[in-house]
Formats: sequence, structure tokens, C-alpha cells
Amino acid sequence: MNLVELIERKKAGGELSAAELEAFLAGYVSEEIPDYQASALLMAICFRGLNAAETHALTDAMVRSGETVDLAARLGRRVVDKHSTGGVGDKITIAVGPVVAACGVPFGKMSGRGLGHTGGTLDKLESIPGFRVELTTDELVEQTRAIGIAVAGQSANLVPADKKLYALRDVTATVDEVSLIAASIMSKKIAAGASALVLDVKVGEGAFMRTVEDARELAGVMRELGVRAGMDVVCVLSDMGQPLGCAVGNALEVREAVETICGGGPPDLRELVLDACGQLLALSDLGVDEAEGRRRAEAAMADGSALSKYGEWIRAQGGDPELDALPVAPVIVALHAPRAGFVHELKAREVAFAALELGAGRHRAGDPVDHAVGVVCHKKRGDAVEAGEPLAEIHARDEGAVDAARAALLAAYELRNTAPEPRPLVLDVIR
Ligand code: URA
Repeated sequence: MNLVELIERKKAGGELSAAELEAFLAGYVSEEIPDYQASALLMAICFRGLNAAETHALTDAMVRSGETVDLAARLGRRVVDKHSTGGVGDKITIAVGPVVAACGVPFGKMSGRGLGHTGGTLDKLESIPGFRVELTTDELVEQTRAIGIAVAGQSANLVPADKKLYALRDVTATVDEVSLIAASIMSKKIAAGASALVLDVKVGEGAFMRTVEDARELAGVMRELGVRAGMDVVCVLSDMGQPLGCAVGNALEVREAVETICGGGPPDLRELVLDACGQLLALSDLGVDEAEGRRRAEAAMADGSALSKYGEWIRAQGGDPELDALPVAPVIVALHAPRAGFVHELKAREVAFAALELGAGRHRAGDPVDHAVGVVCHKKRGDAVEAGEPLAEIHARDEGAVDAARAALLAAYELRNTAPEPRPLVLDVIR
């Protein structure tokens, strides 16, 4: 295969065959194709896109790049899964998993690391001392069987092509393309053998899809890939104009997820968690509808069973579930409102950049992340503020890191004299 010819062809808007896409992935995984050629092809795909046949072929080749596991068949039960297309402050998996498992539905999933400006569940979970994200496939199956929940990184043998491409896309500005996102997410879901899937498709400033139309397109492509593989798929389009919840940064987000598991937490986070739980329980083999699923999820939060499932899960993967065990940043300073008014916008992307400046995310593949740092946005869209009132808190490693984060965070807050029009959290549900 002449990769330069493939790059040229895609650059000119031509089509790649299934065999060529498969050979590209095989060559990249075996390191015969270097990062610079893979990056060039990814960038050409970002500009020219992939048609439906190419997207199906890429997804199938990604699934075939490693082992697959039929989790549902091995457990003899329907297994439900959820996946987000990537957001800021999105800690939903950490809250939803234990609630769903406490309701008696197996929740075994593979999660990812931070991508672009968005955070990743694995990085968040790794802020828990001792927590092990590298599970073998057998460990994932056995833990899901034993306690009803396991969340792991992509083991080396499941979709290795996505593992490598994901890290490369993260640092080459080649994330926000519909087919690449759809193939990345759905190859993992298909390879891990869930029976039903709730896809949280994020829309807005802080998402890879900025408009509802683009998000609908992504949802449609992912749904089709799932249905083709025999899955039930529900797509929830949700707002990512502002961060979800208040905390952005790994340990800070785990803390907020646990508050939500206990029935508290910020209202928007709680609402999306309950929504996802309702959908997942309705897709499970419990034989309940969404309203009943939601009621059971609320009960599991209220009676403590979701919290004890969280503890069981974290301990099973070697972690310490006590909140006191989470790392805390040495420097915590408040960001004060420069004037009185209403928060008209709290721009998710700028908040993410503030967290990145503090070290909560990566600039380059393989960079370490600082699990303790981040921001907590006390004021969100629509809130009234007095001049000098704290808008947010900056959690930093040292004083030097605070200034850059402060500038990014101030740029995230748009204050005006009048309250903004309310914006719905859930913009559409596609079944
Ligand atoms: N999540 C993924 O797993 N892959 C993407 O490409 C985007 C979000």
C-alpha cells in the first residue's frame, strides 16, 4: 500500500476502499506507518470526511484490529452501556454506573482518557488512590459478574487501533470529525459486546459538535453503526454550552459525582444522571419503563445502595473510595465577579482551557495529568452575582499557575445586566 497516494486521494476528496482502510489501521497499529503519515491522513479525513461505506469499513476494521468480547453472552444477561461524545465536567459515567448496578443491571464498560479540551473518565478515576484502570478482558467480565460493575481502559487487545488513533487525534487537532468520532466510539462499544447503549451526544461551545444539526448527524451515524451490530441505541442530545455540574478537574469531579450518587450534587448533573439511569434501566432486562427506571435510580441514591455499590466497585479495582483519600490542590483561590449582573454565558471551552493551564489535562500525548487541580464554578448560566462575589474557585499546584487560569476563567464568564433566556439541558432524544 502506498500511503502517500492514499493521503493524496483523500486530500482531493476521493474515496478509500475497505481494504485500504484496514491496511492503514493494521500498518499503524504495527508501527509500520509513522505518526506523521497517520496524522496527515486524519487531517485529510477531517477536511473531506468519510462517506457511509468508508465509515462502516473503518469501524469494522477498528473492531477487527483486536479481540472482541461478547459481554452479554458471557454474563447471560443484557448488558447496558453509556458513552459520551466528550464534554467539560462530564462525570456522568462515575455516577451512573454504581446507580444502575445497584438497581441490579450489569454495567461493564470501557472508557477513555481526556481528548482535546474534554476530560476523560479514566483520568478522573485514576485520581482515586490505587484505582486500577487496566483490566484484562477476563477481569472485566468477572468483576461485572461478581459485583455488577467494572469500568476499564481499553485493554491492549480490544480495539488497539482506536487506542493509538485516539491518542494521536488528541494532539493533532483531528478529533472533531463525525466519522472519526462515530468509528472511535462505536468500535469500542461493538467490541465490548453491550446489548444496549445510551449515547450522550454533547452539543455546544464545549462539545466537538457545536450545533444541534451536527450533533444530530453524529447521533444518526452512531445509531446506524450500533443497530447494524444488533444493539438497541438511544441518543440523548444534551447541552454543553457550559460545563456539566460545577467541578472541572479530575479529583474534583470524582467528589461531585459521589455527591450526586448520594442524591445531592448540582441540579444539571443530577438531572442528566437520572435521565441516563432511566433510559438504561428501560433498555435492560428488568422489564421496566423509563419512568420506573428513574424512580428506582432515585431510590438507590436515597437508600444508600448506590453509594455502597460505588465503594464496592472502587475497592474491587484497588482504589480507596473514601473522599478524604482524594488528592487536594495546595493552593485554592477564589475568582471574584468584576461587576454585578447575571451570568449570561459560562463558556465550557474557556473553563476547560483554565483547567488545562492548571495541569488537569494534556498538551501532548502521554503527558501526565495533575489529578488534584481544576476549577469549581459556583456561579453558572442564569445566576445573579454581586460585584466581588466569588464566581469560581481555582485549585492550583502553585501560585504561578493561578494567573493564567484566572485569565482563562474570567474570559469564560460573560456577565450582563439581564438574565439570559433559559436553555434546555436535553435538546433531543433519538430512538
Ligand atoms: N469519545 C471517544 O471515545 N472517541 C471520540 O472520538 C470522541 C469521544
